[in-house]
Amino acid sequence: MGEAARITVIGTGYVGLVSGACLAEMGHQVICADQAEWKVARLQQGEIPIYEPGLKELVATNVSANRLSFTSHIGGAIRSSDIIIIAVGTPTQDNGDVDMSQVNNVLTCIAANAVTSKTIVMKSTVPVGSGSLAEQHLRLLAASHIHLPVVSNPEFLREGSAIWDTFHPDRIVIGAKDPEAGIRIARLHASLRAEVLHTDRESAELIKYASNAFLATKISFINEMANVCEKVGANISLVAKGMGLDRRIGPHFLQAGVGYGGSCFPKDTKAQLKLAQNVDYDFQILRAVIDVNRLQRERFVTKIEREVGCLSGKRIAVLGLAFKPNTDDLRDAPALDIISALQQQGALIQAYDPAAAELVMERMPDVPVFTDPYEALDEVDAIVITTEWEAIRSLNWRLVRSLVKAPLIVDGRNMFEPVEMSQLGFTYVSVGRETAM
Ligand code: NAD
Repeated sequence: MGEAARITVIGTGYVGLVSGACLAEMGHQVICADQAEWKVARLQQGEIPIYEPGLKELVATNVSANRLSFTSHIGGAIRSSDIIIIAVGTPTQDNGDVDMSQVNNVLTCIAANAVTSKTIVMKSTVPVGSGSLAEQHLRLLAASHIHLPVVSNPEFLREGSAIWDTFHPDRIVIGAKDPEAGIRIARLHASLRAEVLHTDRESAELIKYASNAFLATKISFINEMANVCEKVGANISLVAKGMGLDRRIGPHFLQAGVGYGGSCFPKDTKAQLKLAQNVDYDFQILRAVIDVNRLQRERFVTKIEREVGCLSGKRIAVLGLAFKPNTDDLRDAPALDIISALQQQGALIQAYDPAAAELVMERMPDVPVFTDPYEALDEVDAIVITTEWEAIRSLNWRLVRSLVKAPLIVDGRNMFEPVEMSQLGFTYVSVGRETAM
């Protein structure tokens, strides 16, 4: 292992909390700082404000070992560390530009509190050029003898497997103008067996957007192929398998469905499109990727309507609300749009999610959410699947058949073999495959 460093992570959301806990596990001395006092208070009591497998245990171990602590006194946390990691949110504004206000507030706070030189790490996803602007911002506000180099170190973890991803990254990207600062940040990860790619800061910033835009492109591509499959009677699962066996293509991100959601792909694709526009470049593929993703949700609602008929007064079970399994994150979750569209047509929703139920009840108080899936399935006219949770796959589907009013499943995640569901007595409609009944 490299030397233990004194690190402050600012922003204890999905990224900051996981990164902070993992860096502590690697042996570093970590303070996680957040302006949300309620969040810090919960963390100080050993509660984890988000659902992420393994995180509670990892935090507890490192708090007990005195390597990890939480505070809302951000200035104090900045003063007592040599490395400051910025992991606050960077949402998109209505016009597509990235809202940098959280990052800028943090930079102002760093400049006001740094009485010694520190290395600043930009882990938040930020547009190209932000590292350079951040350095100017700091230089303008901090005392002239204090050196605050900004290193871009984009984050690639996936919610739901965030701890595994942090300890087993495909690559660690470090973009620095000051080479020593870059090496200092690379050393933090010395205990990981991962390829470290040193780049200029702009390229590092763009690698993050390019990666997310490319993955989103794969999803929209396979969804369009699925739509063609439905018209010509082919099976998208077999088409994707056949494509994925080609090593140049690979099997990942070729699952057809209701499209991508979450806190990253929708916002990062829009931000990248806007970034290109701002430099007078029309990124045509990305525009199509975003449109196809929106249309895919709409197509799915049309498919439900086609199968159910008039939706008014119909009871529909919606299974899976989080944007993907193993998280409670509802940001831009396809299920929420689909529920709203069904409700607008008079459908009565009975929803189920293993982790996000409470958050949905807060956000959509008019949607009854059940923590027992069988209650959500009672006497429904159709079952709609929107997230591929294992808890949904492993339901007793024979029992489900006996609970529902009409045995219709519209599966937006292609979770089951059509023939198996038809043998259980369901009409099974999925994406890019023939209906089985
Ligand atoms: P989040 O909204 O879950 O967390 C952000 C945290 O920052 C919140 O707890 C908020 O209270 C805190 N915060 C905001 N302003 C602050 C300030 N001035 N001082 C202190 N704390 C402040 O966001 P997230 O999902 O963790 O994402 C953080 C960044 O990482 C974003 O740029 C995102 O694009 C990027 N990212 C996210 C993921 C992901 O899967 N969530 C993956 C890779 C990269």
